Amino acid sequence: MFNGKMKAITFSYDDGVTQDKRLIEILDKYDLKATFNINSELLGKEGSLIRDDKHVNHIKNNPKDIKKIYRNHEVAAHTLTHPFLPDLSDEEIIRQVEQDRINLEQLTEKSVVGMAYPGGGTNYNEHVAEVIRNNTGIKYARTIVSSYNFDIQNDLYVFKPTVYNFAEWDKMVRLADKFLNLETDTPKLLYIWGHAYEFDIHNTWDKFDEFCSLICHKDDIFYGTNREVLL
Ligand SMILES: [Zn+2]
Repeated sequence: MFNGKMKAITFSYDDGVTQDKRLIEILDKYDLKATFNINSELLGKEGSLIRDDKHVNHIKNNPKDIKKIYRNHEVAAHTLTHPFLPDLSDEEIIRQVEQDRINLEQLTEKSVVGMAYPGGGTNYNEHVAEVIRNNTGIKYARTIVSSYNFDIQNDLYVFKPTVYNFAEWDKMVRLADKFLNLETDTPKLLYIWGHAYEFDIHNTWDKFDEFCSLICHKDDIFYGTNREVLL
């Protein structure tokens, strides 16, 4: 159960980019809660990337602003510098995760217990998950493998989100509709992930705002950060 309710919705966004501020304005307007996964050693760095032939900014927020920007939400680890973890030694996996977690605790002055694996594609394996489970303060770790269901998962160190809000937008809308109409006597979770910069690619901010307006403020749903719904 989630705060006495059988259904919960949570969001997860990666990289700590400047677009997070605009995203948080939308989430806050509808009392939705998210977790933001941040690379502490990349904070303040400039960058851009190309998606669907469009250039978008990939500028990371300033370390001094982290506490204020994310005050209504959860901050979680995303490693220090966004490496592909399966290529690293155990010592380096631990340093990348645990030092990021500690840095973020210092910046936010709150405990940090979650993470999202960095990198596209298969960005984790059983060994990486085991090293993190046994050697860090991390209590759950999100992959980018969509589950397309709302079931509660046993292994939180290879947690699968329900759906990705960029490339799987239409699927997300259908799943959300199904979730809103779902009647259940066992706990069910809708977990949506992405990156805030993705709303810049085709300027889908208004579309996301409308989506949030449709899923918010339901009496039978708990809206919480990742740690609030998973732990
Ligand atoms: Zn990332």
